[in-house]
Amino acid sequence: MKVIISHDVDHLFGKDHWFRDLIYPKLWVRSALEALKSEISWRECLLRFLSCFQKERHRLGQVMAIDRQYGVPSTFFFGMEQGLGMSYYPHEAEQIVREVRERGFDVGVHGICYDEAEGIRKERERFEQTAGFAPCGIRMHYVRFDQNTFRYEDAAGYRFDATEFDKQTGGSIKQPYKVGAMWEFPLTIMDVYLPQRFEEARRETLQKLEACKTAGIDYISVLFHDYQFDPAYSDMSRWYAWLLEYLANDEAYSFVSFEDAIRELEAKE
Ligand SMILES: [Zn+2]
Repeated sequence: MKVIISHDVDHLFGKDHWFRDLIYPKLWVRSALEALKSEISWRECLLRFLSCFQKERHRLGQVMAIDRQYGVPSTFFFGMEQGLGMSYYPHEAEQIVREVRERGFDVGVHGICYDEAEGIRKERERFEQTAGFAPCGIRMHYVRFDQNTFRYEDAAGYRFDATEFDKQTGGSIKQPYKVGAMWEFPLTIMDVYLPQRFEEARRETLQKLEACKTAGIDYISVLFHDYQFDPAYSDMSRWYAWLLEYLANDEAYSFVSFEDAIRELEAKE
């Protein structure tokens, strides 16, 4: 089975959320409740409180480093519009977008508009203006989509979308398929939909991989949010490091990019 790893860049800098949204008050309340219920340690709770004052909220450097270490040709999706707690502006992302690309990773759009052809086209255009190159593909923020989203993305010129996700079951066990000229890669595993404790997350991941094998799935798509690769999210950081090591050491799996997968799929057509 081939595994495609990608990262949604929901946050860039600490100041993204000062006076722009309510992410921090929500983070404080949620962290305190989770610590009270012993779902996270008080140390993690404190680190999450303090994270609001850090210059950088992203952990792109660290994630690129571990992906490189395991030879993962991952994809990073950046927002070009603001909404639902993603609050940085395109000009604030410009430098890091180029840096990620220069380090050899694929870069795409983390979309906000999902229900309007014009809005979807505009975000793509803004990406090209900001980055100076075309986005490799797109995943919608909060994996939002309706019956028209993929058609609109195809019309906007995207090669692939990586959004389809079943929130009820916490993942879509489904082969990639075509919408017009565009490929849709259903999302199999998403970090924030797993149990947030390492042991349980590991167990559920193994179950999902097994279910993919049983269903004869060729491409598994995994999303890890880079901001979680931090001691404030120690269980999920550990989960991601474990996952890469596990997949790298099992011959049944190999890492590919969306681009590689499309080439393979089209060669079979
Ligand atoms: Zn997102």
